[in-house]
Amino acid sequence: MARKVVKSAAPRAPLDPRPEFHGPILQGLRGHEAPVRALLDALSRGRLASTLLFAGPSGVGKKRAALGLAQSLVCERATPSACGACGPCVRVANVQNESVLLVEPQGAGIKIEQAREILRFLALRQLGRARVVIVDEAHLLNPQAGNSLLKALEEPPPGTHFVLVTSQPGALLPTIRSRAQTIRFQALADEVVAALTGAPDWVVRAAQGSVEAAARFSGDGDGWESLRRSALGALDEMVSGRWPEGLEGLRESAKDRDSALFISRIWGRALRDFAFYSAQGGLVEGRSHLPDQAELTRRGARLPVGWLEQLSELCLQLEQDIARNVDKGLAFENFCLSAIGAYSGREPRPVLG
Ligand SMILES: [Zn+2]
Repeated sequence: MARKVVKSAAPRAPLDPRPEFHGPILQGLRGHEAPVRALLDALSRGRLASTLLFAGPSGVGKKRAALGLAQSLVCERATPSACGACGPCVRVANVQNESVLLVEPQGAGIKIEQAREILRFLALRQLGRARVVIVDEAHLLNPQAGNSLLKALEEPPPGTHFVLVTSQPGALLPTIRSRAQTIRFQALADEVVAALTGAPDWVVRAAQGSVEAAARFSGDGDGWESLRRSALGALDEMVSGRWPEGLEGLRESAKDRDSALFISRIWGRALRDFAFYSAQGGLVEGRSHLPDQAELTRRGARLPVGWLEQLSELCLQLEQDIARNVDKGLAFENFCLSAIGAYSGREPRPVLG
């Protein structure tokens, strides 16, 4: 059966985590109690490092946390928590505060012109209580731009704070990483993502703790739902020992990195259900990642446990390959070969890196 695969050049979802929230941003952040506490504690003791690195998965609210910290630094009423209501606080929330510079990648990276803009900003006279430079996706600073900022990051002018935000701290220039104090953010719990987005259950589970991903997966009409059906259809054929008919379509969709990750996560969750079903002889209410796929789960659970484990590992590897930007088509094909091999009892092929 041919399956329609919607090619998903997923549009940016409307849910930039900047909802109608009035009040201090930091205190309104959900699911990041530990880093928020650490920041407020450092502020109240006057021990906040002047260059911070907010590191953690994409789409969990790191940039929003940086804006929250900026509020705490520029608020004219309350400290260490901002009031959220004074002029400077409101302007930070709207990303319109003249004392806060937010730098985001333009195209593929953060370029030298943008670094110069930061240096010009630092040369201006300070107007409010403090100045804050937030660099989003800081790992995309190109080397020239990064190097031009080293001195400023090492010793920002008095009253100036840098917050570098990244989902890939390992990809940051080591010279920059060593100048910043790292604050770690974790993936959000499914309940928090569900509460923040109101997204359907399968979207929340595929989003793996990212509000941004959940918004994206629910923001494209039925594109993602259709992709999910295709991915599960292909998996169904694989666990039945057939070469998935819709694989070409999936490979086409998987050229887009978000879609590729989405497919691998859907498969990963399904494999976990198979393994759980196989071990328990059934699924427990509320424990299923694919509550609407009972038939597929039963079929998948018939695979030998050892194979299920290997396939789960291969799926994890697939996800890592996609994150590392290796040839996604090849990574997919290798996973499929291994999955079918699992059914027929042959050795799985290694997923090529
Ligand atoms: Zn305020």
